[in-house]
This record gives sequence, structure tokens and C-alpha cells, in this order.
Amino acid sequence: MQFTRKFEFDAAHNLTKGFGEKETQIHGHRYRIDITVEGSVKDGMATNLNELKKVVQTEILDVLDHSNLNDHLKIPSAENIAIWTWNKLKDKLQRLAEIKVYETPNHWVTYRGENEY
Ligand SMILES: [Zn+2]
Repeated sequence: MQFTRKFEFDAAHNLTKGFGEKETQIHGHRYRIDITVEGSVKDGMATNLNELKKVVQTEILDVLDHSNLNDHLKIPSAENIAIWTWNKLKDKLQRLAEIKVYETPNHWVTYRGENEY
């Protein structure tokens, strides 16, 4: 079974012109990240939610929240945030299945660890 938890954080970034005129100016987004893990149901649980929350807090939110994403990623696009997040979590969570990163409510990326970046 798949289990998903939604997380949110605020951060600033700026990107190159190719991402849009306004993206070259430093600005903020309220990012949403959906983390999906997979597990068999034991005692009614597919995953340990407290453990999942603790790992995401330490590895992702404590680092990115209220930061300038350009300090952490060369090109801080939603695509690269998804890959960065995947690489941070893949060895800390059992059976990470999917990561969605919403830069706005209207567009997001989905990454399942396909290819290695
Ligand atoms: Zn932006």
C-alpha cells in the first residue's frame, strides 16, 4: 500500500530567463512536497508516520524552510528540488515510492527515482 504525507515550506529562489521573465528576480514560493512511501500493512499501519515526519523535518524542512534555494541547488527548479529531496530521503525511508513538488498550486513535478541524477 502507498502512504502519502503532505509537507509545506516557504523559500526564495531565482532562475534563468528560460523559466520565465519574472523568475530571474528573487522571489518566494510556498512549496508543497508530497512524500509517498510503500509498505505492507502490519497492525493497521503501512508506515510509521511519526518516523516519516521526523526524517522529512530533519533532512528537508530544517534545511530548506525560509532559505534561499540557490544556496542549496545550482538551479533550484521544482524538478531539481524533487531530485534533491529524493536523494536525501532514499536511504532514510523504507521504500520511498514517489515525490511530488508543487511550486504553485497549478504546476508540480512527480519523481519516482527513475534514472539517476
Ligand atoms: Zn519561482
